[in-house]
Amino acid sequence: MTRAYIGLGANVGDAEAALAGAVGALAALPGTRVVGVSRLYVTRPVGVADQPDFRNAVVALDVPPGPDPAQGALDLLVHLKALERAAGRRARGRWGPREIDLDLLAFGRHRLSLDRPPDGQSRDVAVKGVRLLVVPHPSARERLFVLAPWADLAPGLVPPGWGETVGSARRRQEHVEGSGAVRVAGDWDPAAGRWRRASR
Ligand code: ATP
Ligand code: CA
Ligand code: CA
Repeated sequence: MTRAYIGLGANVGDAEAALAGAVGALAALPGTRVVGVSRLYVTRPVGVADQPDFRNAVVALDVPPGPDPAQGALDLLVHLKALERAAGRRARGRWGPREIDLDLLAFGRHRLSLDRPPDGQSRDVAVKGVRLLVVPHPSARERLFVLAPWADLAPGLVPPGWGETVGSARRRQEHVEGSGAVRVAGDWDPAAGRWRRASR
């Protein structure tokens, strides 16, 4: 099995319910096991500022490694895109409001940069002008809304190419963005399959 980390975000409709639903859908993927769910965060929008606050979280998954890392990661990306569509995500352009966004933050210790799907792979995962798949996710290091929940699960992890842990990247980015950029809104309750209000 390969340990993958998925970044979840939503800011349309009941975003918290959308994220909880995505955790359940990830758990139901073939051969996949959820091994950790971060706290729930309320975060200020980055990029396009004039839109509702986001809810963000990170999920740790054990997934089938595939015949090779590129294929294994692409298979996972195809599943993520299908889950986004099933959750009603509509095209609105990058960084805009969304029902659910599922990003592949890391796939084991592999570094991947893929331009095109290999033959036989579904082509509808590709977007014009955007690399099909880059892992670790190239923007994760500059986004507190990713680093904070990721550090809940794997503070000591050094993603390939980073030269620092997720925990130290989180502390650095907290100084850049200010600690008010993200706040904890709940703790994951595995029995209930949702987050419970944080006590602070
Ligand atoms: P960002 O990548 O900056 O977080 P975004 O999540 O808003 O932006 P999307 O519109 O959801 O961007 O995705 C655009 C495309 O990015 C996807 O269709 C996918 O092919 C590509 N992509 C490249 N690397 C990744 C990755 N690690 N995880 C998810 N998608 C990726
Ligand atoms: Ca994203
Ligand atoms: Ca995305």
